Amino acid sequence: RPVLIFLTVFIILGIVIMVSISVVQNKPLPKKYKYGIVLDAGSSHTSVFIYEWPAEKENNTGMVRQIHTCNVKGKGISSYNANPDGAGKSLQECMVEAKQKIPAYRHSETPVYLGATAGMRLLKMEDETASEKVLASVEHSLKTYPFSYQGARIISGQEEGAFGWITVNYLNQNLNKPTGTLGALDLGGASTQITFIPQQEIESGDNSIDFRLYGNDYHLYTHSFLCYGKDQALKLSLSKKLVSAHAASKTDPIEVRDPCFHPGYNFTRTVQSIFDTPCMKAVNISSGIISHVGFGDWSQCQQSIRKVFNTSRCAYSKCSFNEVFQPSVYGKFGAFSAFFFVMDFLNLTSDSLAITKQKLEKYCSTPWKKIVENYPLVKEKYLSEYCFSGTYILTLLEDGYNFTSENWQDISFLKKIKGSDAGWTLGYMLNLTNMIPAEAPDTRLMPYG
Ligand code: AMP
Repeated sequence: RPVLIFLTVFIILGIVIMVSISVVQNKPLPKKYKYGIVLDAGSSHTSVFIYEWPAEKENNTGMVRQIHTCNVKGKGISSYNANPDGAGKSLQECMVEAKQKIPAYRHSETPVYLGATAGMRLLKMEDETASEKVLASVEHSLKTYPFSYQGARIISGQEEGAFGWITVNYLNQNLNKPTGTLGALDLGGASTQITFIPQQEIESGDNSIDFRLYGNDYHLYTHSFLCYGKDQALKLSLSKKLVSAHAASKTDPIEVRDPCFHPGYNFTRTVQSIFDTPCMKAVNISSGIISHVGFGDWSQCQQSIRKVFNTSRCAYSKCSFNEVFQPSVYGKFGAFSAFFFVMDFLNLTSDSLAITKQKLEKYCSTPWKKIVENYPLVKEKYLSEYCFSGTYILTLLEDGYNFTSENWQDISFLKKIKGSDAGWTLGYMLNLTNMIPAEAPDTRLMPYG
């Protein structure tokens, strides 16, 4: 009998142990996440993006998400041309924040990339040594953190366009499905990009880029217009008004009357502040001061903006402007960065083209005094420029890229997709970490697929 009791207890114990083991095994393991950091060093500001993804699912589409952004205080890194050390220092606060956001045990394997865009492309054209010093300064600063530093460089306009396209299509999970893709429209301060899959042949090699992603081939059209970001475009447009005002009268200061600024707006600028860019040839204007006076007339504003797009010549079957080949726009588009900031502020993200024009006309003619009263919390610099920026966006899209009232509503003005910002940074990181496989992952081999 004692043997029988012993055996029974032994068997029961065995069963209990087996069941506990299986319960433990079937319990989902705590999720392991990995992290990556990308700094977008734009012309007007730098933003730090932190991404997170489940360690075991990194090659699946749509798995990487943005968990944090930090806006670096002050201006973009290209503004530190005379004080390069300041560029690196400016990143400190956001990088300390990144250390707190990412678990310490992951720090050493977290890649950090810095990509600089058109502001630095322009500085490089103007003063290559200064641009190298600024890059060396941000590199030195980023290397002082416990992350895995992967480089700081100026990315090309093509990369900026193509990675923006990858980001929006990755976030929308378009890349592993037979559904259509979304074209990408990006507007910065110093450049603007258009990227999409066209229906016709791409006639110029510079504008074509090929990817193989998740087993599909993509043949993209992309172009980046340096100097056609909204801050540089404002300078281009002002310079034309200044040159004709100077020719017409020699008052001192020169009065520049501008239909793109509100009636009652009056601001003193230096000639130097308009010509301080390689986007324009310097002119010989005697007075250094201009009085910039608004009169808020939308249709005259649009006419003045049209002058910055040269559409008189085209060596291909079709062009956008400045002799750049562009096939007809095709499919749906996401328009982000400053396209979104401006159109969202103006409440113009969902109207027809005709209504958009009507609303903008009304906004531009509103007296400056009233605008300041209506938006006491908005920075005055942004506020004063929304009429110009909105009109520039409309003119760029309609006269530059050839969108029409028929396909205007194919453009979605957006900031984020499923919580992550639309922009080149995510696509850049996915590419450099090889997180988008060329071939579709074989789901039979993927237990978590
Ligand atoms: P970048 O610094 O080159 O990426 O360019 C960003 C552009 O967006 C600059 O022209 C900024 O002035 C502009 N921008 C950023 N935030 C806003 C905002 N809230 N309203 C209007 N423009 C903005």
